[in-house]
Amino acid sequence: MEETIRCPYTGVSWGLGGGNSIGCPPILNFGTEEQKMEYLPRVHSGEIRFCLGITEPEAGSDVAGIRSTAVLSADKTHYIVNGAKKWITNGLWSDYVTTAVRTGRPGIEGISLLIVPLNAPGVTRRRIQNSGLYASGSTYIGLSDVKVPVRNLIGKENEGFKIIMSNFNPERLSLAVGSLRLARTCYEEAWRHALTRKTFGNSLMANQVIRAKFANMTRAIESCRAWVEQIVYQMQHQKDAANDPQIGAKLALAKVQAGKVLEMCCREAQQVFGGLGMSKEGKGHIVEQISRDLRVYVVGGGSEEILDDLGIRLMLSKL
Ligand SMILES: Cc1cc2nc3c(=O)[nH]c(=O)nc-3n(C[C@H](O)[C@H](O)[C@H](O)COP(=O)(O)OP(=O)(O)OC[C@H]3O[C@@H](n4cnc5c(N)ncnc54)[C@H](O)[C@@H]3O)c2cc1C
Repeated sequence: MEETIRCPYTGVSWGLGGGNSIGCPPILNFGTEEQKMEYLPRVHSGEIRFCLGITEPEAGSDVAGIRSTAVLSADKTHYIVNGAKKWITNGLWSDYVTTAVRTGRPGIEGISLLIVPLNAPGVTRRRIQNSGLYASGSTYIGLSDVKVPVRNLIGKENEGFKIIMSNFNPERLSLAVGSLRLARTCYEEAWRHALTRKTFGNSLMANQVIRAKFANMTRAIESCRAWVEQIVYQMQHQKDAANDPQIGAKLALAKVQAGKVLEMCCREAQQVFGGLGMSKEGKGHIVEQISRDLRVYVVGGGSEEILDDLGIRLMLSKL
């Protein structure tokens, strides 16, 4: 993830793999052998693509509040799916969406995950115009009486919530890593500019107040990066790490912190660039692009307010 995000245009890397990387793990980790063999080799060869459809117009942070429904047909051979999904990365050109639907009672106990073919009758798609990440293909997916075979159910009916939650830890780690890589890019671009841009007869870097900005960014990036490395080490070496609430807590809080570091570094880099920091052309254009892309790092995969609280609740859960 870190190397991919060295291409500072997040839309490009998300456009290439953003859907598969969150849409396929439920099949990989909870799917039947038949489902794995039907889809994953073709994803691997690039023949087909997946995206993940959790968020809805009326339910984002509150995943348990999703309203899209899947009703089993009388002959129990298929579900009839109705509803809508919003901001679905890669939705425009994916072949399947791993979709959260309501099959049971309200709340977390009535949610299932279905593989919905996006070429099925009743599916509509349109691009959502966001400020950044254009190449990621953010999509509004409409589902109107879409027939989905029962064999496309991932895991058991009404047990989809835990599958959705299991997807979040890796996603949060990847968002944290991406945020810190982009923060470094902002730093690097601004550093180069501060050395070469002259004002009042001197380079920008000759001013203490400018050097202080770099000190601030260095402290923030390096300490957060070290924390993320530590969490990754723990994930690799601790038994049953994937189910440890303490690791989930750290990932939630580290993702928030990395997002804050990115916001701060992007702001400071734009400041070092002056007017160039908001120009789509010229030396500041990379930082300007990051300033439009970064919101998704702060909001996606669980927004700041939600994750801060989740982190502390997970910590308390082990007391
Ligand atoms: C570019 C982009 C790509 C995305 N890709 C996907 C994708 O591929 N698949 C997918 O399923 N979703 C995707 N999303 C959706 C994303 O996961 C949601 O935007 C996110 O979960 C937040 O939901 P929301 O936007 O509905 O915000 P809301 O839930 O409406 O929340 C709005 C704000 O209020 C805060 N808030 C909400 N409730 C509380 C509370 N109780 N207390 C305090 N604060 C609160 C939140 O932190 C947030 O900042 C994408 C979004 C974007 C912008």
